[in-house]
Amino acid sequence: MIKGQFPASKFNSLETPFYYYDIDLLRKTLDTIKTEIRNKDYHIHYAVKANANPRLLKEIAAYGFGADCVSGNEILRAIDCGFPASKIAFAGVGKTDREIEIGLDNDIFCFNVESLPEMQAIEALAAKKSKTARIALRINPNVDAHTHKYITTGLNENKFGLNEADLPQALELIARSAHLEIIGMHFHIGSQITDLSAFENLCVKAFELRNWFHSQGVKLQHINVGGGLGINYQHPNHCPTADFESYFRLFGKYLKTEEGQSLHFELGRSVVAPCGSLITRTTYVKEGISKKFLIVDAGMTELIRPALYQAFHHIENISSDKELTAYDVVGPICESSDVFAKDMKLNEAQRGDLIAIRSAGAYGEVMASQYNCRELPKAYFSDQI
Ligand SMILES: *Cc1c(COP(=O)(O)O)cnc(C)c1O
Repeated sequence: MIKGQFPASKFNSLETPFYYYDIDLLRKTLDTIKTEIRNKDYHIHYAVKANANPRLLKEIAAYGFGADCVSGNEILRAIDCGFPASKIAFAGVGKTDREIEIGLDNDIFCFNVESLPEMQAIEALAAKKSKTARIALRINPNVDAHTHKYITTGLNENKFGLNEADLPQALELIARSAHLEIIGMHFHIGSQITDLSAFENLCVKAFELRNWFHSQGVKLQHINVGGGLGINYQHPNHCPTADFESYFRLFGKYLKTEEGQSLHFELGRSVVAPCGSLITRTTYVKEGISKKFLIVDAGMTELIRPALYQAFHHIENISSDKELTAYDVVGPICESSDVFAKDMKLNEAQRGDLIAIRSAGAYGEVMASQYNCRELPKAYFSDQI
């Protein structure tokens, strides 16, 4: 079995569980993205919600990328970590007045508007500050992302975005206001999308809608196609980066932009998931009736994805080269869903062995909780330990 490269001897002195980030892999990923979009009018807004660790944000900001934020505090964190406000897009169905004001006060790039009442609130607050808010309409394209139902966001009657039927009224409101400027349209159809044909369908829809805006006399400066590109959770060692080449090629082929129109992407998971691992220690090996349980000191409090949406993470025993043995890898939390994997083949384990739960850089540390009075996990970086 090929395993990841971990400095296991250095880990021995550290208290577990903790997140370990491979900075070289993060930079390699960022380099790949940068190479794929060179010479194109393509812009990346990293989706901060995937991982808001300041060190990672600083690395990503240093590549010149923008940020996609879904709360006022994410905007403040992003600015703090070096993202220019002029490259920050702000999405979310429930932006509060305070959060809208943070966006206005910092002159962010764009509010991605998800409902008519939200548009009215932004207009009123912008008017009060004598400002003009740049907005993009988040439209529900009714495209099925073929991913888990909890991370599908682009179907009708989903809480996100405007429906097409709302668009004429939205344009009327904008036309009547001196404080709203429409600069784009926005989509986000879901996450962990590996069947790229979903993006093809999105392109077709975006193209149609772009023409509709044209027919209404509205020329859009940008089209934001959101994020969602998936990674290979099964084989982190063979496929350490997402298929950015096919992804960007697809948009080049199916979504031809007009002169002066740019394409924006909000990648989250595909940027940070591969570089993070949750490192945990074996507390007990428990013999069940027909299976073995590997009880580790990390739980759903540090990484909730398996419990929340049956997500798969590859797991390795980095302290052992012994024979492969099947284990159910479970945490200590008092919930039956606190299971990282069933029937995972690991090198035979004993109490104290270090276990790496791979591809945990996205929606991992950032979702940690203190349930059971646990401490939030620490993070270490490959170039600092
Ligand atoms: C979550 C989210 C993203 C990022 O999605 P990934 O699947 O992590 O790439 C992008 N845009 C919006 C609006 C989001 O809510």
